[in-house]
Amino acid sequence: MAVAVYPGSFDPVTLGHQDIIERSSKIMDRVIVGVLKNNSKSPLFSVEERVNMLKSVTGHLSNIEILAFDGLLVDFVRQCHADVIVRGLRAITDFEYELQMSQTNRVISPGIDTIFLTTNLKYSYLSSSIVKEIAMYHGDISAFVDPDIAEKVLEKAKAVKKNARPVNK
Ligand code: ADP
Repeated sequence: MAVAVYPGSFDPVTLGHQDIIERSSKIMDRVIVGVLKNNSKSPLFSVEERVNMLKSVTGHLSNIEILAFDGLLVDFVRQCHADVIVRGLRAITDFEYELQMSQTNRVISPGIDTIFLTTNLKYSYLSSSIVKEIAMYHGDISAFVDPDIAEKVLEKAKAVKKNARPVNK
């Protein structure tokens, strides 16, 4: 049975991520989406919120499971009894980092391979950071995320702005 882990921050899940999940669910018998907990990027959403958002947009896919993880990715992959890591590639800018990560993972865990799915051209420019940036200015994010996710991102952006301390002049 081919089992893969698709890891990431998913802060929040975008239509680009959903496209990779749907396509990998057709290739693999089972795909575990691994949501990274110990994130140095200080995420907008808690890991539980990110897991729940992913669950809500993948409910129609029977071979997808969403789990949070921290620590080394290869350890999580082994715990899941998986042997493949799925990553998405948008542009050449992703390539250098992704190549380094996949080669490192193969050195520390030789049985684990990484496969790359190239982005759907429709989403090649899309990232969670862009979505958050637009939401902070109350912009329209409906072309980038599922409607339920858009609502949550805009609500969260509003709450963050409300709690932000005014800048001293
Ligand atoms: P990370 O913190 O690992 O970069 P992300 O949530 O940004 O986490 O991305 C998770 C994975 O999804 C990465 O492999 C990334 O390249 C891929 N990805 C992100 N956005 C897109 C997109 N628009 N199209 C295809 N793949 C994407």
